[in-house]
Amino acid sequence: MNPQASPKICIVGGGLSGLATASKLQRLLPNAAIEIREATHRVGGVIHTERLGSYLVDHGADMFATNPPAAIQLCEELGVSNQLMQPLAEDRGAKIVCQGRLVPLPEGFVLMRATQLMPMLRTPLLSVTGKVRFLVERWIPRRRKTGIQHDDESIGEFVSRRMGREMLDRIVAPLTAGIYTADINRLSMRATMGPIAEMEAKYGSLAKATAARRRTGQDSVERNSTGARYSQFRAFQGGMIQLIQSLVDDLPAETIHTDSPVQKITPRKNGGWQVDLTKKSLLCDELVLATPPQVSAELLQDQCAVAAKLLGEIEASSVAIVILGVDQSQIKKPANCFGFVVPLQENKKILACSFASAKFAERAPMNKVLIRVFVGGAMQPELLTGTDQAIISLVQEELAQLIGLGGEPEVAKVVRWNNAMPQYHVGHLDRIEKIEQAIEPVQHLTMISNAFHGVGIAPLISQAEKVAKTIAGRYQK
Ligand SMILES: Cc1cc2nc3c(=O)[nH]c(=O)nc-3n(C[C@H](O)[C@H](O)[C@H](O)COP(=O)(O)OP(=O)(O)OC[C@H]3O[C@@H](n4cnc5c(N)ncnc54)[C@H](O)[C@@H]3O)c2cc1C
Repeated sequence: MNPQASPKICIVGGGLSGLATASKLQRLLPNAAIEIREATHRVGGVIHTERLGSYLVDHGADMFATNPPAAIQLCEELGVSNQLMQPLAEDRGAKIVCQGRLVPLPEGFVLMRATQLMPMLRTPLLSVTGKVRFLVERWIPRRRKTGIQHDDESIGEFVSRRMGREMLDRIVAPLTAGIYTADINRLSMRATMGPIAEMEAKYGSLAKATAARRRTGQDSVERNSTGARYSQFRAFQGGMIQLIQSLVDDLPAETIHTDSPVQKITPRKNGGWQVDLTKKSLLCDELVLATPPQVSAELLQDQCAVAAKLLGEIEASSVAIVILGVDQSQIKKPANCFGFVVPLQENKKILACSFASAKFAERAPMNKVLIRVFVGGAMQPELLTGTDQAIISLVQEELAQLIGLGGEPEVAKVVRWNNAMPQYHVGHLDRIEKIEQAIEPVQHLTMISNAFHGVGIAPLISQAEKVAKTIAGRYQK
């Protein structure tokens, strides 16, 4: 038997990146000896679900996209597709706070593109001047090429240049900040909204691109943004932890080692790596770094200083999620939607609010509401220095104004995610390309992270597939 067909593979980091890579590798190289070294006492990283009394609470991600199809395909491979569910049909849609009131997002508006005109003209989110400026977008010339490789700009620049400042401040910024907890004046257009930048380049304007897509029926789902678009997402009946648990169940028991932080990695003279843990060292043929960029930067310091420096430059924002379980009767002005986002101009502390029990079945008992409120992010990191009680109080105060929340919650908890949201700043694609070029000559080392090619669960699983294929390719010749 060719010994290379049974390589010893060490994966550092037991978050979704590490677990999904192990699962894919196991299928491609059934004889490989794979082990995952995870620093903390549990796998899953920023994905976790907890039962709080009779509420089922996702601490981080609560659903994933079916496009790219990698996540849904993985669920099929793992045999857990029957545990998936779509968001509930009632109350679909998001709202935006406008002068203290919750206003529905115009029908057909998706991220930064209006696929229907009339709802844009009727929305109270924009003033008459704002609407005229939005309509002029069709005639704004396309951006001149800068000559820089990926020709990047910030989301703030793109939207204010094409659709005006009001559209940016009142609609696009809060929606984007809600996803990336980022500063939209630094967030890369190419890395986060690449297809929309391409539409400008191809058609000259988003209005013309939308008209062309309408003719070919491409926007049929987007045009129904408060309804059909939500069918493109899936959640687990038992919370996102089910994805992690099914990956764990898929791997042989001896694969996963928790409380096992990797301290140092050193290439061996005859190929492969030495991996130093706190008290012992391991030898492996292949090493996969599935750690956050700051950790990978430290581990690579002596092995690839160029990649380490570039990885170290990737910033990450922190966020706190306040979880509240309340009785329906405590909400005097029900929002009747899946959640809302808050523009900075509203001078509120809340970034975004999600009604988990409106989105998914089985999250709260009858007549109870499970709320998840996001605080902090790149724009208000100072709020996270407060105690948990202080953060809960400020959220209760603002929810009292916005949805008429009164009384004490049955359940209240703060989940803090420090430096968990990698920031895809302008120039991100160039930086990632340089990191990949720098790492390429380093033998038998591969990296995967949500800081590279997409933060979402679905793009991350696509990356895991690619990483596994790259490694397996070396042994299948
Ligand atoms: C609050 C929040 C909400 C989100 N919501 C959604 C959502 O709704 N839908 C969606 O698609 N995506 C969502 N995401 C994104 C998605 O959940 C993450 O991008 C993804 O789970 C990251 O996985 P990862 O394995 O790359 O990183 P991590 O989860 O950070 O895992 C890295 C692991 O490496 C370990 N580690 C670190 N250092 C070492 C070391 N020296 N040795 C060994 N192990 C080490 C860590 O302990 C950790 O377990 C959300 C993210 C956050 C933070």
